[in-house]
Amino acid sequence: MDCLFCKIVAGEIPSKKLFEDEQILAFYDIQPQAPVHFLVIPKEHIASAQDLKAEHGALLGHIFETISHLCDQLGCENGYRVVTNVGEDGGQSVHHLHFHVLAQRSLAWPPG
Ligand code: 5GP
Ligand code: ZN
Repeated sequence: MDCLFCKIVAGEIPSKKLFEDEQILAFYDIQPQAPVHFLVIPKEHIASAQDLKAEHGALLGHIFETISHLCDQLGCENGYRVVTNVGEDGGQSVHHLHFHVLAQRSLAWPPG
C-alpha cells in the first residue's frame, strides 16, 4: 500500500522515534507546529478516526497512556493538545490514523 506512515512503520522512510512497541509508534512531526510536536500512530493501517470501531478500544487506551507517559518525559506539565484530523474539511493530509501531540506553547482555541 502506498501509505507514508506505513512506510515509516516499515522503516522505509526514516523518522525521529520517541517510542515504539508491537502496536504503536510515536515520532516527531517533520514540520513542527509547536516546540514539542509528535505523532502517535497505530502500526496497523487505519485510514482515520472515522474507521475506528469498539474493538479498537484497547489500542486507543494504549495510545493515550503512551501520550501521557511521553508528555511526562518531555516536560509538558503545563498542558498539551491531542488532535486527530479527519478528511478534507478536518485538514487530514496523511490517510493513516495519527494523533498530533502539541505542547510547550500556549495554543489558541478555537483552531482555524
Ligand atoms: P495531518 O495533516 O494529516 O493531520 O498530519 C500529517 C502530519 O504528518 C503533518 O503534521 C506533517 O508535517 C507530518 N508529516 C508529513 N510527512 C512526514 C514525514 O515524512 N515524516 C514525519 N515525521 N512527519 C511527516
Ligand atoms: Zn498506512
